[in-house]
Amino acid sequence: MIGLNRTHDPQRRSWVESANVAGADFPMQNLPFGIFRGADGVARGGVAIGDQIVDLVRLRAAGLLKGKAAEAARAAAGPVLNPLLQLGNAHASSLRAALSDLLDAAHEDRSHRAELGTCLVPIRLATLQLPVHIGAFTDFLCSIDHTLRLRRGVLPPAFKHLPIAYNGRATSVVVSGTAVTRPQGQFRQGEAVTFGAEPSLDFELEVGAFVGTGNELGRPFTLADADGHTFGHCLVNDWSARGIQFFESEPLGPFLGKSFATSISPWIVTAEALLPFRVAALVRDVGDPQPAHLTSEVNSELGALDLALEAFVLTPRMRASGLEPAPVTQTSFRSMYWTFAQMLTHHASNGCNLQPGDLLASGTTSGASAASRACLAELSQLGTLPLELTNGEMRTWLEDGDEVILRAHAEHPDYVPIGFGECRGVVRSGA
Ligand code: CA
Repeated sequence: MIGLNRTHDPQRRSWVESANVAGADFPMQNLPFGIFRGADGVARGGVAIGDQIVDLVRLRAAGLLKGKAAEAARAAAGPVLNPLLQLGNAHASSLRAALSDLLDAAHEDRSHRAELGTCLVPIRLATLQLPVHIGAFTDFLCSIDHTLRLRRGVLPPAFKHLPIAYNGRATSVVVSGTAVTRPQGQFRQGEAVTFGAEPSLDFELEVGAFVGTGNELGRPFTLADADGHTFGHCLVNDWSARGIQFFESEPLGPFLGKSFATSISPWIVTAEALLPFRVAALVRDVGDPQPAHLTSEVNSELGALDLALEAFVLTPRMRASGLEPAPVTQTSFRSMYWTFAQMLTHHASNGCNLQPGDLLASGTTSGASAASRACLAELSQLGTLPLELTNGEMRTWLEDGDEVILRAHAEHPDYVPIGFGECRGVVRSGA
């Protein structure tokens, strides 16, 4: 079991100065994993520190790592991080500890700095890739407020008994920065059903979890073991074609309305980095179900993540005028009815085999307040009330050229805040 340790020490500062800037997404205490291509074009594993990437292939070649940390770096040397995830969280934790020591400005021995300096690649000069091969993508429905707003005030019967989900499409998960093509499909227009470009294109602000070690087919795991199967987290934009979705979803759920694209942020913020930001799960109403296999004291007291989440829209007109993106959503991940430990445990509870690199998404992260509505379907009250952006432009749904930008950060008064980086995607015409 990994607990708080010296890598979370808020006093630690790095000799990589950009990591010490107040509000930096990637300070010493974060050290998220990703896959990047540098000048040589070869995709390999890296760890973000400030505005730099530590190239794990070069770092291992430099002989600065030992034991499990070296094994973890070797597992992160290829074009996907699945081998690292498969090793288990203890290996990634050893690498995190070694990197934290090597990057520590207070480290007495400075002899490694020149060598480690040659392993640094500026993030702006690298191309970030999908961090893992995603074999399966599952999208959950964990926000009561989102569910009520989209279902006209009625919770589905199972909502409080289990984290409702559907099997999403893994092949169309794309990394931040990839343009998203407006899908074609069938939807209602008045009384008629037509085929054409989706008129009601939406985003959904979600948080993702990557499965680390998996479980064998037919062998579920307990809620207490769920953390051991969770490697880390990312931002997810579950793009949604509402016209297609709302017409096709009875009775089997979403299909083409979701499967055209899902965007994720490129860095995996490890579950270990997020330990200081664990908080109590949402308190359930008296009389709500407490399914035994999805209930524990630890989960109730520390199962949730305190993440501040934001969504922005950058329109072509804003871009042309040099304006900042318009904020449209500010929400908290604390308002989810289910925790990721419950989602993983439920997912495997029938014996389904989760695999390293599988992606589980939380569902739209809306809260009760108007500002926390985390998709346009909620913000525009199912398309009936256009939203005014900061520059006066109106949006009911996304238009071609609009870019959606998601951000997340975690704060605690006793720890250094950490961020997720961004998840971005521009809508392009499908015509
Ligand atoms: Ca969703």
